[in-house]
Amino acid sequence: MIYLTKHLIFTYLLLKFLPNRDWRLEVVKRERTYLRGEKHTSQEISLQPPTANLQQNPMKPPPFKYHAPTTLDEALSYFAEYGDEAKPLAGGQSLIPAMNFRLAQPELLIDLNNIPALAYIRATDNGGLSIGAMTRQRQVERSDLVAKHAPLISSTMPYIAHIQIRNRGTFGGSLAHADPSSELPAVALVLDASFHVQSQRGRRTIPAKQFFTDLFETALAPDELLIDITIPAKPARTGYAFDEVARRHGDYALVGATAVVTLDQAGACQQAQLVFLSVGPRPVAITQATSMLHGQTITPNLIDTVAEAVNQELDPPGDIHASVDYRRHLAKVLARRVLTVAVNEARDYKR
Ligand SMILES: Cc1cc2nc3c(=O)[nH]c(=O)nc-3n(C[C@H](O)[C@H](O)[C@H](O)COP(=O)(O)OP(=O)(O)OC[C@H]3O[C@@H](n4cnc5c(N)ncnc54)[C@H](O)[C@@H]3O)c2cc1C
Repeated sequence: MIYLTKHLIFTYLLLKFLPNRDWRLEVVKRERTYLRGEKHTSQEISLQPPTANLQQNPMKPPPFKYHAPTTLDEALSYFAEYGDEAKPLAGGQSLIPAMNFRLAQPELLIDLNNIPALAYIRATDNGGLSIGAMTRQRQVERSDLVAKHAPLISSTMPYIAHIQIRNRGTFGGSLAHADPSSELPAVALVLDASFHVQSQRGRRTIPAKQFFTDLFETALAPDELLIDITIPAKPARTGYAFDEVARRHGDYALVGATAVVTLDQAGACQQAQLVFLSVGPRPVAITQATSMLHGQTITPNLIDTVAEAVNQELDPPGDIHASVDYRRHLAKVLARRVLTVAVNEARDYKR
């Protein structure tokens, strides 16, 4: 009874102060069947939006024009014509929420989902891997080819959001979105991936280290589409690791780190790469601290020294999720973890 009174008062106030008085109250009869088979009927008060408004604009995002080409050429012709007024729609897992919040208001959406030529996973002639931009994240996660040729990508995929989002979200969409808290941009950078992009003007290749230019910004021109991502083969005795700290599984990382370490035949470090995510406007590669590893036999003490030094190359932001000091602390801890795992994996190399 108290609940119903409160509900009525709240709804009355809502109706009184709503700018559009066409909203109306409706008593809705609801029937539920519980697991044991018992039936329960209740009456609930529901606030109904004005039908006229719903008919005029039945969607959450602002109005937009929509095209769904079936070939790459057709898609590219739209981008040549409309430039930055058009946006590609891939899995829509970032773009549609951004439109709902009015953070993006493209005039035209070019849906890439009907272009099958953009979704594939292939081994390359030189032992690397080629992934079409429209390949679903979940497909990448479950692919044997990816596990064989780019095991770091396979082990990182489960950190991205939730299965439902990865079922729809695409490999290329995540990279083109360039969210600095996303896992794939950091992984693409640590693996030296190449981004193949195309427009009606032609095709070009952008190395990962030049692709991410700023917060949600890439080297893509408005008329260019990301088509394919190539991951080069790595030498024998290479180990990989990815780790992150997030409040809950599936959340964006407070800080994440990924490492690739190659040892020579004598067991000394031939090459070591370390990249962080969620510590700046784009993924950050550590170069000075990791140079201490080159040519050395890597010991836990040496890894500690490198982990202490990474913060000299980081300038992490502080926000409501984590302070600057906490992010610095996480960076040190994660550097130690990923370098240790990657070095151990390189030592255990048996292929
Ligand atoms: C609740 C939730 C949690 C999430 N958590 C994470 C997370 O923990 N980690 C993470 O990395 N991501 C996370 N995401 C984002 C998710 O991974 C998205 O799938 C991904 O960022 C975007 O991929 P998409 O295919 O959905 O792209 P879309 O949303 O369709 O597009 C994203 C942007 O990229 C552009 N674009 C897409 N494809 C191309 C192309 N081929 N060429 C040029 N531009 C292109 C679009 O125009 C748009 O600007 C989360 C999303 C949600 C909804």
